[in-house]
Amino acid sequence: MVVYDLACPLEHRFEGWFESAASYETQRERGHLSCPLCNSKEITRMPSAPYLRGAGEHSAPEGERQPMMMVAGELVSALRRQVIQQVLALTEDVGEDFPDVVRDMHYGESESRNVRGVATPEALEELHEEGIDVLVFGMPDTLGSTH
Ligand SMILES: [Zn+2]
Repeated sequence: MVVYDLACPLEHRFEGWFESAASYETQRERGHLSCPLCNSKEITRMPSAPYLRGAGEHSAPEGERQPMMMVAGELVSALRRQVIQQVLALTEDVGEDFPDVVRDMHYGESESRNVRGVATPEALEELHEEGIDVLVFGMPDTLGSTH
């Protein structure tokens, strides 16, 4: 098992766990890797440098520094489908109002509830900067419509 520090063009950093270096290469070449935040498939490997995460980086928003668990392999599409079906069942669809709705909840202007919706990577960045915790999924095409 190898663990790589990965990043997308928007500089979202996350960890990927792979069976081997070759497994990482294969998955990247086949476009199986994607950023958990923005779903970009342009993933690059960052030099592993854990010491960079130490002192001196406190000022960075906490969310960006958290390693994220990644799963790769054939299980991924099945898992994603299952999770999304659960999400569809348990959340209210607020569509493109998502950033406003979660912001209102975060600042106590509306009651907290489970919602789902869509947001641009830019809007997502803003939410992260405000310390608002949201979970991001790349939607499979077949589930792109939430109706
Ligand atoms: Zn990203």
